[in-house]
Amino acid sequence: MPLDMPTLFLVVTVVAFVMAGWVGVMAWGQRRSEALWSWAAVMCAFAVSNVLYGFRGVIGDFWSVVLGNGVLSLAFALMLLSLWRFQGIRPRPLLMGLPVLLALGLYALFIDAYRIRVIVGGTLFPAQLGLVLQVLLSRRRPVLGRGRWMLVTGAAVLGTILLLRALGMLLGWLDAGDALANYRWQAMLVLVAMVAVLSFGLGFVYMNLERAERRSFELAMRDVLTGLANRRAILDLLRSSVARARRQGQWLSVLMVDIDHFKAVNDNHGHQAGDAVLRQVAQTLASRLRAQDQIGRFGGEEFLVLLPDTQAEGARVLADALRQAVQHTFTPWGGQQIAVTISVGVCGHPLSEADSPESLIAAADRAMYQAKRLGRNRVEQVGEESEAG
Ligand code: GH3
Ligand code: MG
Ligand code: MG
Repeated sequence: MPLDMPTLFLVVTVVAFVMAGWVGVMAWGQRRSEALWSWAAVMCAFAVSNVLYGFRGVIGDFWSVVLGNGVLSLAFALMLLSLWRFQGIRPRPLLMGLPVLLALGLYALFIDAYRIRVIVGGTLFPAQLGLVLQVLLSRRRPVLGRGRWMLVTGAAVLGTILLLRALGMLLGWLDAGDALANYRWQAMLVLVAMVAVLSFGLGFVYMNLERAERRSFELAMRDVLTGLANRRAILDLLRSSVARARRQGQWLSVLMVDIDHFKAVNDNHGHQAGDAVLRQVAQTLASRLRAQDQIGRFGGEEFLVLLPDTQAEGARVLADALRQAVQHTFTPWGGQQIAVTISVGVCGHPLSEADSPESLIAAADRAMYQAKRLGRNRVEQVGEESEAG
């Protein structure tokens, strides 16, 4: 089936402009320095370069060939800029600007040499797309979500087809004089450009949505004051830990931690000092836990600690280490050092069908109140209450 090139160009151009418009709509209301705005510029640059290519023969070759390819190179440079912005990486102007200048210079120089132009395009643009892929596939900052695979697909297919065409020219299996073969490659390229434009447009918007969703989830699960998991989050973790330990008949120990005489801190030093103490205690506790342990702010000055796969004795030792750590860590406040202590209730045993998140919390809470009754700054364990109390 013969494909009509002007129609193909028209379709890709319209799609690119529509994508640019919708990305712009999504970016509306954000700061101009936000990545979505530069991404709208990416889509615009794609559309403009297609317009310039499409008018080949109508406008001068300088406009369609030199400027068309310069703008395409600019689109790739803006992609890189947007991804850097998205990642919070400082832009590197040389990596962006140099390829664009090279594109303009080389296409102007070889404006009449079709074979060399194909080779230039087949090395320069894939190199730019390679930089884009490098950011997208970087292991150091894997925060791009699944939308990134749309971008990876677009960049990979576009880079591959350009590279193959250049290789064909270079190795001789594509002849610059073979009009039909070149026409077919051109048509294929336009179709791949369409795939790329759709993937780029959708993918980046999707990445932004995924990140917004991730951020609001994190916000909903984090305690603002201490930065620990909040009550909802730690209860969620407790529920899943209980389910797992019950299934596998494993140990699960739970600590209920409460700061002693905390009201007095507020009364003597003020509420803000109380907040500082809460932050300090949270940090002291969190920094002494193992990687598999979880801690959350359960209430005002109460913390819940989950110790999976930990026997009661181990939990008790850890609880006492936490108690000592808090006792020996002071909170600097207005030239003073505020000291606090904690009381800890420990509940730990291999879980069975009889255990539930609520029953574990209730048991740890009872033990904690026992510690309060016995004088505070101490650790009490479920099962010892009756002997001690
Ligand atoms: P006990 O040793 O029996 O635990 O005595 P307590 O004073 O620690 O216990 P109580 O439950 O009477 O007091 C807890 C206090 O914690 C009361 C409340 O004002 C304070 N509090 C709760 N949340 C916050 C907070 O976010 N910031 C500050 N500064 N204080 C808080
Ligand atoms: Mg208290
Ligand atoms: Mg309390």
